Amino acid sequence: MNLKMSGGVNPQGCVLTNEGGPFRPNQASALTSKEPLSAMKAKLSFQSSLARTCLGATAAAALLALSAASFAQAPAGEPVPKLNDRRPFLAPGATTSDDPVRIPMKPVAETGPELVIRGGRLFDAVSGGVRPATVVIQGNRIKAVLPPDATGWGADAKIIDAAGKTVMPGLIDMHTHVTYPDRASPFDEQGSEGAGTLRGQRNLRYFLEYGFTSVRDLNGVSNAPFLLSQWSAADMIPAPRVFAAGWIITGTGGHATERPSIPSHGPDYAKEVDGPDAWRGMVRKAFKEGASVIKIASHFAPDEVRAAIEEAHLLGLKVTCDCETIYTEMAVDAGIDMIEHPLPRSDAAIAKMAKKKIAAVPTLQVYQNLLDRAGGFYGSTSRRFTMTSQGNFDEFKKMKAAGIIMGIGTDTIGDASLMVPNSYIAELKWFVRGGYSVTDALKAGTIVNARLLDMGDELGSIEPGKLADIIIVDGRPDENLDDLAKVQQVIKDGQWLIKDGELVTPRHVSTPLVKPSPPADVK
Ligand SMILES: [Zn+2]
Repeated sequence: MNLKMSGGVNPQGCVLTNEGGPFRPNQASALTSKEPLSAMKAKLSFQSSLARTCLGATAAAALLALSAASFAQAPAGEPVPKLNDRRPFLAPGATTSDDPVRIPMKPVAETGPELVIRGGRLFDAVSGGVRPATVVIQGNRIKAVLPPDATGWGADAKIIDAAGKTVMPGLIDMHTHVTYPDRASPFDEQGSEGAGTLRGQRNLRYFLEYGFTSVRDLNGVSNAPFLLSQWSAADMIPAPRVFAAGWIITGTGGHATERPSIPSHGPDYAKEVDGPDAWRGMVRKAFKEGASVIKIASHFAPDEVRAAIEEAHLLGLKVTCDCETIYTEMAVDAGIDMIEHPLPRSDAAIAKMAKKKIAAVPTLQVYQNLLDRAGGFYGSTSRRFTMTSQGNFDEFKKMKAAGIIMGIGTDTIGDASLMVPNSYIAELKWFVRGGYSVTDALKAGTIVNARLLDMGDELGSIEPGKLADIIIVDGRPDENLDDLAKVQQVIKDGQWLIKDGELVTPRHVSTPLVKPSPPADVK
């Protein structure tokens, strides 16, 4: 389908398809963003069958075209559509991809021995409490959470003794750049998708070794973040889950594209687009390549940020923004889901964030690293304000006081991927300095982050039915955050990948030859 033009509609007012005749949007009843979600769903349900008849297209494609056509002309000032949650359209218990796009997948019967974690201190990320418990894993899911002395699993179960240790959900970092060049990266490899993919795989190993089972990667080189995301999801590389934005979308000369141009500020990384149609198109491009979230950055115009958010929400993706001052307010007014960084913004913008339940990922430590190293943030056209450590923390405190939900992210620029998990633990300590309890900081890094990813039903806590992303820590991180560096065992997607601190992957099972060889009849 040609969805490149405004709202997927050509100048004659027809949605274009490769498969059938034109479908005129006005054949379907009007669908406005003012309607309650239930009414929209009913109409979408009806219209999807109508669209299938008219187009002979898949239901998903028809819905997408229809939704885009209906919303594209929404006048400025009206609220943008809410996130298009796909879950109501799925049968209860349906198997899907383990990401916010939730693509239906063929179910696979879980067989094989259970993995049992016995006798540990279970950190309950929902309540923030700790209790003794035994956790049973089958396949890639948590099968049961039992009393510490429970029995009843199969005789072939693998047992991990966690006595005296803390069992907790895998950590989530909400702001990484695992493919970014670091000090060791040769200049001529910095724009290379291949080098970026390899660098990302190495950095993801560092994250995994320290207990990170998910990262949200918010800009990288070409399709490297998407490749890493797909290979990790298929368990083809030992890595955390990668919820990738792919690229930053910004206006020409916006953040991460400033001069002097360097490979990581060039078109292989951030995408410079101008005009609402181009912003909308780049959101679709990111979705096509495999995005789990859309990342935008200042600068932009109100109609551009609005088009990006509108399109992402129709596709079912959240949008987060690296922005400051007036751009933060613009993004908030346009219905953004989240704001990155502790950059300056007005008190009015903070009040609106709280009122509209717009979250924040303040990334305090990355700027502290920068201030410690360089004394300030200099020479950037996207940071035309004076940055200080206290100023950043004051923004955090205002957001905390306003009741804004905040997640934990490290923003691994420069050599920060080499600092895992020190920068993450420091970020948690900033939260505690700002009034969080230690357990609330750990909740922010697990269940709150999972919810901000739109994955709270699958990740972030140890509960039956959820994906088995679990770590075992030799200490009590719920009492002392420094203990979080003592991660010993890491289970991601039900696979015990880090054993006693080291990566262990099962040997590849060799595929047999088609026939015995050399053939007997060849003399
Ligand atoms: Zn960043």
